[in-house]
Amino acid sequence: MRTGLYPGTFDPITLGHIDIIRRSCALVDRLVIGVAINRDKGPLFSLEERVAMIEAEVAGLKGASATVIEVHPFENLLIDCARDVGATILMRGLRAVADFEYEYQMVGMNRQMDASIETVFLMAEAQYQPIASKLVKEISRLNGDVSKFVTPAVNEALKRKFSD
Ligand code: ADP
Repeated sequence: MRTGLYPGTFDPITLGHIDIIRRSCALVDRLVIGVAINRDKGPLFSLEERVAMIEAEVAGLKGASATVIEVHPFENLLIDCARDVGATILMRGLRAVADFEYEYQMVGMNRQMDASIETVFLMAEAQYQPIASKLVKEISRLNGDVSKFVTPAVNEALKRKFSD
């Protein structure tokens, strides 16, 4: 049984994340989506809201593959979270070169802390590659249309958040 951990902030989950989740399911038997609490980043959505949105979105993927998907909030070191959930593979999405330098350092340092965990990089479908939660929030806050970047449910959640 191969378990992968896909960590992120998911503030909120986008079509880019969902694409990576779908691709990860083709590689592992069990996929744990690790939701970083990330108090420092000052997330727009609370941990509970982010987890609920992810759970609602992955519910729609369940029939498509035999992979078991779980959502797991975490606040500790990524490699400790991987050990806690029994994951031996870290799944990461790679967008442009901008992601590369950070990811390169993360792999290098994580590997020295735990050599048994392998990191796998996946690329989303072309139209989803430029999507970043940060820009989705910015566009939605300014009343722009993010329907090409998030699901209708997440779009509604963003609208509610910004009309509060
Ligand atoms: P963001 O950087 O958008 O705030 P996260 O921290 O939640 O997103 O990212 C979690 C993981 O998902 C990271 O590995 C990130 O590179 C990946 N990811 C996010 N958006 C995309 C995308 N559009 N295409 C591919 N990977 C993505």
